[in-house]
Order: sequence, then C-alpha cells, then structure tokens
Amino acid sequence: MALAAVRPEARQAATATAGDVATGKALLASITALTGPGMDGRAAGTAGNAKARAWIESRLRAIGVPPAVPSGFAVPFQYDTKAGATQAGVNLVARCNGRRADAPAIVVSAHYDHLGVRDGQTYHGADDNASGVALLLHIAERCQATPFAHPLLLAFFDAEEQGLRGARAFVATPPVPAAGIALDVNFDMVSRSDRREIFVAGPGRWPRLGPLLTPIAKDAPVTVRFGHDTGGGQDDWTTQSDHGAFHAAGIPFVYFGVEDHADYHKPTDTADKIAPEFLGGVATVVLRALSALDGAAAFK
Ligand SMILES: [Zn+2]
Repeated sequence: MALAAVRPEARQAATATAGDVATGKALLASITALTGPGMDGRAAGTAGNAKARAWIESRLRAIGVPPAVPSGFAVPFQYDTKAGATQAGVNLVARCNGRRADAPAIVVSAHYDHLGVRDGQTYHGADDNASGVALLLHIAERCQATPFAHPLLLAFFDAEEQGLRGARAFVATPPVPAAGIALDVNFDMVSRSDRREIFVAGPGRWPRLGPLLTPIAKDAPVTVRFGHDTGGGQDDWTTQSDHGAFHAAGIPFVYFGVEDHADYHKPTDTADKIAPEFLGGVATVVLRALSALDGAAAFK
C-alpha cells in the first residue's frame, strides 16, 4: 500500500529483547496450532472453523478467564450472505474483571475465521488472523494474572472475512449495555513486516487517543507508525477490519496491523514466514498501549 496516508511520528526501533523473542515463540506455537491439520483455513460455518473455536475455548479454560455471559464463551449469531442465504456464525467472548468496578469495558478483539479451502487449496491465514488470535490469548493470560483498571471483554470474532459479521453482531447485541463499552482494540495481521513496522490506526478518527498512544513508539522493539485512519479509500483502514463495526456505532477504536504483504489472502500465508522476534516485539508494544489506554479516563 502507498505510504502517503502515514503521519511522520515514526521513530527508530530499538532491537527486540530475549524476552520478546521468547514471547514471540510462544505466540508462534498458537499460530502453528491454528493453521495445523484439520483447521482447513477456518472459514465461517465449516468444520475447520469449529475446530479452531474448540481450540481457542480450551486455551481460555486453561488460562482461567471466565466467559463474558453465563451461557458460555460461545455467542451464536446469524447473518445474511451477499447471495441472500442465512448463515450461522459463533463469536467467543471472555472477560477479565477490572480493578475499578465502575469503569466501562474495553473490548480487545481478533477474528479467528479465514478463507478456508478454495479450488482445492487451503488458505491457512497464519498472519490473517491466527496471529491476532495468538496475541489476544496472550492478553488473556496477562489480564487474568494482573487485572487492568478497566474490565476487558476478549472477543474472538467469526465471519470477519464475510464483511465484519461477528463484530457487527457483537455491536448490535453486546454482552454488556453498549453504553458500557468505551473502546475497541483490534488485532488483524500483526506478525509480519519486512520493515519491522506495526501500524496503529484510530487516533486520526478519535483525536483523544493520539496523546495517549504517541509515547508507546519511543524505544519500542519494533517501529511503531501511526496512520491509515484518515481520508477514505484503500489506504484508510477505518472500515477494513472488525474495529469498523465499533467505529460505525460511535465507539472509538485502536487497530494494530501490518501493511499487506505478498502472501496476503493467498494459500502461502503460512506460519513458517513469521519471525518470532517481530511478533514478540509487537506484543510488547500492544501491552504498552493497553497500559496507556487503561490509565485514561475517557477515549472520546
Ligand atoms: Zn483479517
């Protein structure tokens, strides 16, 4: 993608630490599982998608985070396809309680579906978006061990590739009253960048977020760049992943993602292309961002 929409706050990245590399390796193990045998590209409505969901649920149980609603992690929904058929989807939503009982919730999200099998070829979706799911599970571990001030709703969305369907269903029927959701922090493609760059979108649309997030770029283990959130068109990512459903409902968003690469939406988006060093660096940047956001009283 062109870089014209990118603002110039980028700073030179420091190198990743041994801790970042270890974190990246742990996250890569999750990505390998989500792109392994039987996952079959995790397309919404398929057996591979259900297998991925069962794997995520087992991880959530092992981590010990409770479901956001009493009926369990799975929150089914229905949507109409472009061809006019009704399809079933399933979001998974867990919760980390916050230290402040009166604080509104921050949704942290990543879609777990991908494109499935087409013309006999499996679209594994390692970066898109097994990487975001791996990062979201990492956040679940952290918030379960050390709660944030805000409660976190950890949302694993289905049918993003069908038009943000899981996120739209979540926003239409949220597990807590919509007024109690202050922000969405969304991950979609966070594991690969030849330039070692992670983009942060959102402040261009929600100006209060800029001063909160600008400091996370300083001495970061990967290069943090802000942009892709103004002007409309292909280089404006405001509507291009699940955070778009929140933005449309008047809820501020922060999106973390990389620019498109040669394997984007191709069968070659595989786990072996991912460098743990970059992925772990992104995890460090994201945790810094969540801490900075958690300290704020309001996001709009
Ligand atoms: Zn995606």
